[in-house]
Amino acid sequence: MIKTRTLETFSNEKDTDFSQQSEVKALKEAISSFRRNLGNDYPVIIGGEKIYTEDKITSINPAKTTETIGYMSKTTQEMAEKAIQTATQTFETWKQVSAEERASYLFKAADLMRQRRHEFSAVLILEAGKNYSEADAEVSEAIDFMEFYGRSMLQLEEDRHYVKSVPTEKNRLTYIPLGVGFIVPPWNFPLAICTGLTVSAVVTGNTTLVKPASVTPIIAYKFVELMEEAGLPDGVINFIPGDSSVMGDYLTGHPLTRFISFTGSKDVGLHINELAGKTAKGQKWIKRVNAEMGGKDGIVIDETADLDKAAQSIVSSAFSFQGQKCSAGSRAIIVESVYEELIEKVIQLTTELRVGNGEENYCVGPVIDERAYNTILNYIETGKKEAKLVLGGAPGNSEGYYIQPTIFIDAAPNSTIMQEEIFGPVLAIAKAKDWEEAIEIYNNTEYGLTGGFFSSNEERIQEAVQRMYCGNLYINRNVTGALVGVHPFGGFNLSGTDSKAGSYDYLKLFSQGKLHTIQK
Ligand code: NAP
Ligand code: MG
Repeated sequence: MIKTRTLETFSNEKDTDFSQQSEVKALKEAISSFRRNLGNDYPVIIGGEKIYTEDKITSINPAKTTETIGYMSKTTQEMAEKAIQTATQTFETWKQVSAEERASYLFKAADLMRQRRHEFSAVLILEAGKNYSEADAEVSEAIDFMEFYGRSMLQLEEDRHYVKSVPTEKNRLTYIPLGVGFIVPPWNFPLAICTGLTVSAVVTGNTTLVKPASVTPIIAYKFVELMEEAGLPDGVINFIPGDSSVMGDYLTGHPLTRFISFTGSKDVGLHINELAGKTAKGQKWIKRVNAEMGGKDGIVIDETADLDKAAQSIVSSAFSFQGQKCSAGSRAIIVESVYEELIEKVIQLTTELRVGNGEENYCVGPVIDERAYNTILNYIETGKKEAKLVLGGAPGNSEGYYIQPTIFIDAAPNSTIMQEEIFGPVLAIAKAKDWEEAIEIYNNTEYGLTGGFFSSNEERIQEAVQRMYCGNLYINRNVTGALVGVHPFGGFNLSGTDSKAGSYDYLKLFSQGKLHTIQK
């Protein structure tokens, strides 16, 4: 079975077709079934031991804030210490397991998730406020990460033969694991990113401490449980939910931590990077940090563009999952001659977006929690002072953390709403005199994650490819929805270390090359 699982034969998992009523019914049943387990207690897992603690995170449904999803035990600092000792011991055996066997756990887990995809979607809908297609696409992405990194590992094993041998020596370069990785995912893709960050480290032979985002710990637990079911040995993944203030810096600064895989905000990423740069007493290595952080992504539209297509892409990039994507197109920079016409189209399409609970499959759902809700509403107030509000600008239904899709126009390039990541359903639109000025405005941020360029002029497209400074540039399409193995993902500048998740190169970040030469 494993022999057919190569990078060449990899293809992205197909999303569910919800135009089929049978699929809608199956998803609704999965939601009802998960509903019967609302309010359950979930444990910390260290070396396979499930530990329930008194102190718990309460995970709530952002679409209906009176509903509790479950209670997640919190890891104490003593337990974090036990987890890192366990991961360190387990590394001694896990690093000797063959690449083929390591990959087989990912393939098994991918198969299981494929069979039970609605079960995972149901948790994403209730815990993270996703709608059907967003939840479903995230499950596909998680499966893709397992398939793709499993296959990449097998390929990496093959490729280790590539160094030249000379008549007097046989040379080989192998990729060996690093050690214990501290895995810190965000809440916005709480299944896919948690899966990707964890399995990439595991398949390359490392052991891990997985600290899920505190607003979405239960979907992360479901993933860890799945890996257990797939037969992954105890201690390879240690699941340590809890307060980052209690164990975040403790584990980043710990002498036994070998690397940190972080995806989240700029401030936390920079903090981790700085702390990891200090050598702790007894530490024997330079820690590696892979930090993928925020964005202030934008789309540039010139006067030769297909304006209907551009409008659709602007709206879907800005408002899908309420703009809570690192790739969200939160800026649109439009040339003067089509500025008004395009804005009209954008407003029209946005007006059609229905806001409500993802469980009833509304298009725009709630934002993740009260903190995000307040932060976004504050940005909207700032926007009202800086630019012209043309749509939205207020909260929605108070049952959940709903905010109306909001559009500002005539935003100045240096204004707050054009510079800072808002991470909510807020679009800032700026006017440029021509496409070149528009690109300058696009580049005028400290970030560099995704970018879009709409034009039908071939020369300009080539220029845009050269000039727009970002890790993921998309021409004449939306700027979100990167696919594993198709659009390797990672940003420039303060968007991160450009690790290119979903690429073959990615696994080398969790490995070190060892050359050995045998003289004949
Ligand atoms: P966040 O607040 O930075 O949190 C990310 C993770 O870091 C959470 O698990 C959080 O735990 C943890 N954390 C916080 N302080 C820590 C510390 N001192 N030490 C160790 N861990 C710590 O980000 P978020 O709000 O979850 O996610 C949204 C951000 O992620 C946005 O900026 C978005 O652009 C970015 N993002 C980037 C990418 C990308 O690929 N570039 C992808 C997705 C999201 P707690 O939840 O317990 O605080
Ligand atoms: Mg929640």
